Amino acid sequence: MALVRSSAKWDLILLDWYMPGCDGMELVRAIEAESGPGTPPMVMLSSNAASARSSLGRERNPLAAHLTKPVRRQQLHQVLSRVLSRSDPAASLRKLAVASAGPSLAERLPLEILVADDNPVNQKVAGRLLERWGYRPKMASNGLEVLEAVREHDFDLVLLDLQMPVMDGPEAARRITREIPAERRPRIVALTAAAFRQDQDECLEAGMEGFLAKPIEVSKLEQALVECHARRRRDPTHV
Ligand SMILES: [Mg+2]
Repeated sequence: MALVRSSAKWDLILLDWYMPGCDGMELVRAIEAESGPGTPPMVMLSSNAASARSSLGRERNPLAAHLTKPVRRQQLHQVLSRVLSRSDPAASLRKLAVASAGPSLAERLPLEILVADDNPVNQKVAGRLLERWGYRPKMASNGLEVLEAVREHDFDLVLLDLQMPVMDGPEAARRITREIPAERRPRIVALTAAAFRQDQDECLEAGMEGFLAKPIEVSKLEQALVECHARRRRDPTHV
C-alpha cells in the first residue's frame, strides 16, 4: 500500500492472492479506494484460480486478469501485454509493482552462488538480479578470491568473469578443476564480454560449462540457474 500511495504512477500491479497478514481481495479493494479512477489494472496470481474467483462473489470483478501459479513465462507475457495494451496502448512494462509472498525461484531451485567480477557495477547487476529471486550470492573480485571461496564453501554455481586482475577467470577455473574433487566442484559459467568467440575453447578446456554474455539477460541467467540445478552434483541433503 505504501507503494500505491507513493507518487509513482504504476502501469500495472501484479498481486499474490495469499500474502502473510493480507487477503488478496482486501488489498484489491484498498488499492481501488486509494487510487480511485486512476487505479492501475491489477492482475492476480493464485494457486487456485477457481477458489479465488468464487470468493469474488457476484460483485463486479475488479481484476484485469487472473493467473494460476506456477505461472509460465509465456503466459505471463501474454497476459501482461494484453492487459497493458487495453489500458494504454502506449504503455510498456516500464513499471511493474510486484507483490509476492516470497522469492519463488530460490525456493524452487535452491543454489549456492558465487559471482566473480572485478567490475563492481557488474557485480551489482548480477547480485541484484539474483537477490530479486531470493538468492544470497557471494561476491569475489578476482580469481584468487574465487579459489579461496570455493575451498571454504561448497558452491553450486560460479559465475566467472574471464578478465580479472591477480588471477583471471580461465586460470581460476583450471585450478578449481584440478583442486576441488568432482563431488564438491561447482558448475562454472563464464561471464563474457563481446568479441569473445576465440576464448570459448579455452573456457571449455579450463572446465567451464556455460557462457553468459554481459550485460546479463534475465532470461539467460534464469536458464543457467535451471540447468545448474538440474545437473547439481552435490548431494541435496548435504548442507
Ligand atoms: Mg573483468
